[in-house]
Amino acid sequence: MSLIIGSHVGFGNKKQLLGSVEEALSYKANTFMFYTGSTQSTQRSELNDELTYEAYKLMVENNINSSNVIVHAPYIINLANRSDESKFMFYVNFFKDELNRVKTLGFDKIVLHPGSAVNCTKEEGIKNIIDGLNMVINDTTSVKVLLEFMAGKGNELGSSIDELKSIIDGINNKDRIGVCLDSCHMNDAGIDLNKFDEFLDEFDKKIGINKIGCFHINDSMNPIASHKDRHANIGFGTIGFETLNSIVYNSRLSGIPFILETPYINRNMSDEYPPYKYEIENFRNKKFIDFTIQ
Ligand code: FE
Ligand code: FE
Ligand code: ZN
Repeated sequence: MSLIIGSHVGFGNKKQLLGSVEEALSYKANTFMFYTGSTQSTQRSELNDELTYEAYKLMVENNINSSNVIVHAPYIINLANRSDESKFMFYVNFFKDELNRVKTLGFDKIVLHPGSAVNCTKEEGIKNIIDGLNMVINDTTSVKVLLEFMAGKGNELGSSIDELKSIIDGINNKDRIGVCLDSCHMNDAGIDLNKFDEFLDEFDKKIGINKIGCFHINDSMNPIASHKDRHANIGFGTIGFETLNSIVYNSRLSGIPFILETPYINRNMSDEYPPYKYEIENFRNKKFIDFTIQ
């Protein structure tokens, strides 16, 4: 079984998608994930069709299938918070625009952090997310929203199968909703990844494995159930290489894109480098080699 694996990459103003594809290829990845602009603001540059065209040429030459490419929504969208209606609608409308950008770029999946229950109960937060998502999905076409499984930091929603299920249950158009798993978040939320197949059994019964559209494969800096959400490099955290490798090769997940969101390696403060080429290579070889020792 050949892996579909890549990492998050940049999407700069100058080269846009072309730069993202070039970065992914430098890691020998066959997919990638990107943000269409800043993760912390709603400012977006105009898309350049010529750069998109060049990017697609490069993707085709290198067998990167656009249906495996993932976009991540910016962190500032919080559909759970409806304490200020005009702010809520601002983010609903911004998220609609993001879905349209994803479509213009030719992709079909966007990952969203479900939201945090601010000034409301969990139940109200979930209701707000459902209402917001239904508006977004109604007014856009084709792009699928993947709800990310969260670590449960603070008031974060979507840190269990049941919470994700209760959001999905409220979505009118089920074809447009799915899930993005994240191994660091799952560990931090209290799931024992050494028993990953038991988790998948429950997930399949309640939501359905066919709803998994993406898998963020990260190690964790913290022990199980810590609710911290700090990603570690593969093989350098509390989950460990063997467990993560067996998830990547789990036959029930075949065909699902795996995306690394691990931190850059710091030799010293002035010299950091991305780990993705090495982490991808280790997974392809099914063998952990410590690439930080040189
Ligand atoms: Fe995320
Ligand atoms: Fe993630
Ligand atoms: Zn995270």
